[in-house]
Amino acid sequence: MGEGGSNTHSVFETGEGAGRHESLSPSPARAARGHPLPQGEREGRKRLRVTDSFTGQTIETARRMLAIRLRARDVESADLDARLLTGAALGLDLTGMMSAAKRLLTDDESARLADFARRRIAGEPVARILGVREFWSLPLQLSADTLVPRPDTETIVEAALELLDNDRRRNGSLAIADLGTGSGAILLALLSELPGAFGVGTDINAAALRTAQLNARQLGLASRAGFVACNYTDALAGGWDLIVSNPPYIRSADIAGLSIEVRDHDPRRALDGGVDGLDAYRIIAPDAARLLAPGGLLLVEVGHDQSGEVARLMADAGLTLPGSPRTDLAGIRRVVIGQKSIRQDGI
Ligand code: GLN
Repeated sequence: MGEGGSNTHSVFETGEGAGRHESLSPSPARAARGHPLPQGEREGRKRLRVTDSFTGQTIETARRMLAIRLRARDVESADLDARLLTGAALGLDLTGMMSAAKRLLTDDESARLADFARRRIAGEPVARILGVREFWSLPLQLSADTLVPRPDTETIVEAALELLDNDRRRNGSLAIADLGTGSGAILLALLSELPGAFGVGTDINAAALRTAQLNARQLGLASRAGFVACNYTDALAGGWDLIVSNPPYIRSADIAGLSIEVRDHDPRRALDGGVDGLDAYRIIAPDAARLLAPGGLLLVEVGHDQSGEVARLMADAGLTLPGSPRTDLAGIRRVVIGQKSIRQDGI
């Protein structure tokens, strides 16, 4: 997407943090009505020329200019995105940026920031530009072949830990399978919390598995994590205590209507759940019923209106439903849980 429109505009800035304190500052209208700005304020208030180039700007001005440009493009979290992108272009954390606020950008830094700005304005998510995303407080590398892990997906991790707690199994040697593991997010989060557990992540995309493996190594979890390229459970034998998955669940026809950030930047294969969005669960539910150890649990993420149908697929496969679906932070039924009967001769 091109930059389009005017490339330069001016905005009144009031010193600190683009826009944030504007309502606290004397308004131009007030000044015009005969309430002159106090001397200090007048000096602090300057016209910020917002251009596409960051050359010759201080770090603080560059960050503010970027925030203004992003806000003008209706980017929701413009201030946060500007801070993250400026920090990444400079290799500085927030403290580093604040203490170097008045330093001028080098040519390299300004070129890098201009590139980040162009990509964000074209709809690329910050996590993709940075190539990392935090999940369950773990920094995860991403690649074009992995979904950006969503906070919603932490609901699976939370629910699994709770259920295992109840069963007093948290310190046991649990076997965990993560189907369609992508960056390894769910599996690695669980392994980070369950010191006695080991796990296997599967994915149809071998390039995604390389990223998952890199993440396992960087998090010090590689000795307990294995990765296998296959479709869902195809390469797995039985005996799993826990099977987890965030499979593709968007209805094929709905993909065109997703935000640019998701539609054009997440791998389609990780999104497209077929005509009714439920293709993956039709495979996963019966496979899990076959491959779980007695009493083992299946936890899957589902789309906002799919929990009933997925629960039915699990019941049809012979799993019991040990509790109602878990809700995400927005109150949406996000995780459906099935359990294999404890009786050895069961189902
Ligand atoms: N949560 C993703 C979205 O909102 C979808 C991920 C998936 O299909 N598993 O677009």
